[in-house]
Amino acid sequence: MLQVKNISKSFKTADFVQKALDGVSIDFRKNEFVAILGPSGSGKSTLLNIIGGLDKYDTGDLIINGASTKKYKDRDWDAYRNNSIGFIFQNYNLINHITILDNVEMGLRLSGVSKKTRKEKAKKALEQVGLKDHMHKKPNQLSGGQMQRVAIARALVNNPDIIMADEPTGALDSKTSIQIMELIKEIAKEKLVIMVTHNAELAEEYSTRIIEIRDGKVIKDSNPLNKEDGEQEKYKLIKTSMGFFSALKLSFNNIKTKKGRTILTAFASSIGMIGIALILSLSNGFNIQIEEFERDTLSQMPIMISKQTMNVTEEDLQKSMNETNKENKFTTKQEIYPLEEITNMVHTNKITKEYEEYIKNIDKDLISGIGFQRTTKLNVLTKIDEKVKMIDVSKAFFPLPEKINEEQMPLIENNFDLIYGKMPENKEELGLLIDTQNRLSKSILEILGYKKEEAISFDEILNKEFKIVLNDELYEKIGKYFIVNTDYEKLYNNEKTITLKITGIIRGKENNTFAEYSGTGCCYKEKLAQYVIENNKNSKIVKAQIDANYNVLTGEKFDTTDEGITTKDTILSYLGDDKTSIIIQVYPKDFNTKDKIIEYLDKYNEEKSEDDRVVYTDYAEAITSLSGGIIDAITVVLIAFSAISLVVSSIMIGIITYISVLERTKEIGILRAIGARKKDITRVFNAETFIIGMCSGVLAIGITYALIFPINIIIKELTDLANVAKLNPIHAIILIVISIILTLIGGFIPAKIAAKKDPVVALRTE
Ligand code: ADP
Ligand code: MG
Repeated sequence: MLQVKNISKSFKTADFVQKALDGVSIDFRKNEFVAILGPSGSGKSTLLNIIGGLDKYDTGDLIINGASTKKYKDRDWDAYRNNSIGFIFQNYNLINHITILDNVEMGLRLSGVSKKTRKEKAKKALEQVGLKDHMHKKPNQLSGGQMQRVAIARALVNNPDIIMADEPTGALDSKTSIQIMELIKEIAKEKLVIMVTHNAELAEEYSTRIIEIRDGKVIKDSNPLNKEDGEQEKYKLIKTSMGFFSALKLSFNNIKTKKGRTILTAFASSIGMIGIALILSLSNGFNIQIEEFERDTLSQMPIMISKQTMNVTEEDLQKSMNETNKENKFTTKQEIYPLEEITNMVHTNKITKEYEEYIKNIDKDLISGIGFQRTTKLNVLTKIDEKVKMIDVSKAFFPLPEKINEEQMPLIENNFDLIYGKMPENKEELGLLIDTQNRLSKSILEILGYKKEEAISFDEILNKEFKIVLNDELYEKIGKYFIVNTDYEKLYNNEKTITLKITGIIRGKENNTFAEYSGTGCCYKEKLAQYVIENNKNSKIVKAQIDANYNVLTGEKFDTTDEGITTKDTILSYLGDDKTSIIIQVYPKDFNTKDKIIEYLDKYNEEKSEDDRVVYTDYAEAITSLSGGIIDAITVVLIAFSAISLVVSSIMIGIITYISVLERTKEIGILRAIGARKKDITRVFNAETFIIGMCSGVLAIGITYALIFPINIIIKELTDLANVAKLNPIHAIILIVISIILTLIGGFIPAKIAAKKDPVVALRTE
């Protein structure tokens, strides 16, 4: 059943070739106690390792179960070692960081025995060698004899057919030696035991057959096997494999013995992770802040629909950007380059009565208000230093956003405070909107009649009066043309003029974006605009202008080939015709309803031609995407920096794993001797890096959560924003996974190196 056929083996070292075995042939019985005797260096261990499948022969053959092993693969040798062979070494070769029970169990783990059976069998084997009471001790808590018993128990536990013992008593005193020999003799009653020794006395006393070896050759065999009584019984070969959890347990125990180093490694490699986690939590936090800010303020910004709108697609912008970037260097060449223009950038909205109705029919739950601003020209007179003047209203007057009905839209109340006087309510009343520091630009003040450098008291400016002059008063017809009545003094005192009065001073609430974007100056009620339009659209000058094909004020003829907004349209709108003078502002109720409003606005355009479409502007969206984009860009840059430290730490993990491989060479040899595959060795080390990666990931997240507190306090001090840094739990999990993956990659090469180690060489190392 086991036959060594003319086996030779040489070792090549740098300068010469050592022939360890030279044509050895031995037939073994299924059940005998063979002692191999010979002086040191004669090739005994080499022979044993080859029979045990630990080492490979150069020439000859090893016949197992009557079959040649010339074609054996690694897998077959692993199975052979695990199921059929039990090794006992002179220096015990136990794994020091696990208990003796685990040492004994290891071989069973490799052959996939269930946990319960494994424990039972291991305990039984330990009982057999008389160590039942010591099974939870670690090997270094035992005496030499006890350690050798553990090794014997390990060799026996899988119930192999062959026990290989390489000078099992070589390191023991004579009394203990005898005890061990007795134990082996017991085993030999039902197994083939091949024992290497140079102690002839022990061989004589215990073995049933003595084979003497000298210089790699068999020189004597006391009880050779006759070819005739060859036996037929066969060895069982079950393929081995180590489960991932066995690998994990082995690595975990190993790591436990070097806690300090593991913690330092995990900490060092977690630094990059901490960086990334902090950056993520900050950018995440800032994005949340921005969102809240949007909810609070930006959502209050209206969607604007005005007569002329920029209608720029992303594509157009890209195109123009490319064009400007391409040639934006100074050139000394005497050439002129054509520049691509963005055409159709300005879209003219046809805001018809039908569209106005469409807007008015919007679901009232979505909005907090709609403003219809008639940007009609107001002819406003005021008295400055006892002289009446016409003022430039475009700079100083604007309409107040209106409520759609009484219950709705606390828009003004939400964003502004009335700080003096009363809110304007009817068309004769004006509000004066100032900024949060009670300022009003000098140009507006000048228009309102204040040229002074010093402060103006609320009382002085309150009740300030303006007069609105209607077209029929202002323009006088002379023949075909109209002229402006410049007798402002008379107009000012005309009964038909409406007197406006500043009744209240209004100020935007602090940190309110909507208020900031509202501008400052006199604000009037929609009612005033409507009143003026009603009167002016029926005024003589407007009617005359509608019919005329020349400017009724200057006599200048119009170019009839004009398309789009004509000069006539512009003049008409200036004179107060209502058709072209509306801006619609739709105020979303909150952040969530904005999308629905936009959907509603888009629906109107669905079936419309390019020209009839009404394009709106969503300023809040523009601001949001801008700020969000900047934070994203900063985040990417910072993450890139941290990623470098991540790479460094995974290289470090690789180095540390490699050191661990060097340290655990012996263990690799032992595992291989009891049947672990190369794959299993890789697994042990991958399990180790897995644990380290996991630790460093968890540590990084833990430290990050701890750092977030002081960071938030500092940010609060600096910016007044509370709880900015927030780590998203999903990010935390992803980071732990990344940490594990990176450390696995770092440890992969060392794990492969470990698997490649020659078991015999590995066993020799100390
Ligand atoms: P024994 O066990 O009988 O003392 P070995 O089988 O260990 O002898 O060694 C036989 C010979 O082969 C010795 O000369 C030894 O130096 C050599 N040898 C054994 N293993 C190796 C090895 N891995 N590399 C080089 N030479 C070796
Ligand atoms: Mg030896």
